[in-house]
Amino acid sequence: MGCCDDKQQTADAGSAVSDKLTIALAGNPNCGKSALFNAFTGIRQRTGNWPGVTVDRKQGYFQLDSHTVTAYDLPGIYSLDASSIDEEVTRDYLLSRDADIIVNVVDAANLERNLYFTAQLLEMGVPLVVAVNMMDVARKRNIDIDTDTLSKDLGCPVIPIVATTGEGINALKQGILDVVSGKQAGGFRLAHDEVVEQAIAELMPMISNCTSARKETLHWMALKLLEDDGNVGSECTRDVHAAAGQWRTAIQERTGEDADIHIADSRFSHVHTLAQTIISQRGKVGKTITD
Ligand code: GDP
Ligand code: MG
Repeated sequence: MGCCDDKQQTADAGSAVSDKLTIALAGNPNCGKSALFNAFTGIRQRTGNWPGVTVDRKQGYFQLDSHTVTAYDLPGIYSLDASSIDEEVTRDYLLSRDADIIVNVVDAANLERNLYFTAQLLEMGVPLVVAVNMMDVARKRNIDIDTDTLSKDLGCPVIPIVATTGEGINALKQGILDVVSGKQAGGFRLAHDEVVEQAIAELMPMISNCTSARKETLHWMALKLLEDDGNVGSECTRDVHAAAGQWRTAIQERTGEDADIHIADSRFSHVHTLAQTIISQRGKVGKTITD
């Protein structure tokens, strides 16, 4: 995947400053979303269901400066392929653009795997603030994380926290406010390679013509069509599907890999390279007890 110059700024959260704010916590299972949700909302929370399904929906409230915030604790998932009900709920929620900000909680002690999901969130173009949780665990294991470099690469605030003790929560709240006010961007879309981006650029206006998709989801929809994701594109005309099919062939010929494999591979390799840049383990003498 390419580097910085063809990154596009995707978030436009800055234009929507209001007194009511909706945020949603998203991340892998067991990264500390619920702990953070509790730290934010305390006892001001209730549990219901996501529309149409029996997946628990935790909803809570807190005050952030002048903003009355409604917060949702999204189901924990590893990827957004919509192959499970939890993935579907999360994906539909993100596509609805109900939330002004997504707080992506990642586990500092399992950062690389968690960042794969972050990459997928950025592809969706949702305004992000990344909370690097479990910093206490990372410190115990002598894992250093360069959150400044991570923030520069992702194009959004990246805040180290310990959700269970409240460490870093105020800085995280400030990060949210900075994206809401437009002072900081809410993330860059990770650029795919040239042939994939070319295909996306051609497909976007075609998709736009035949669907009611929001402008900010067109890039993601084009990518999903190239990945031949059956959950996307039911509204699209045959022409769009035919064009996507031709591009899949072109990508296959150009890269020697099936388009969906190629796209997933470049996502993985981008995240892997990034992880190598920002994570370092001091000493590495002795192993932790759990190892
Ligand atoms: P979720 O699945 O993402 O909602 O994760 P939870 O909030 O349920 O957290 C999973 C486990 O990790 C729980 O036992 C939490 O108490 C614990 N936990 C959450 N955040 C932290 C943290 O920052 N540090 C430590 N040491 N434990 C944490
Ligand atoms: Mg939870």
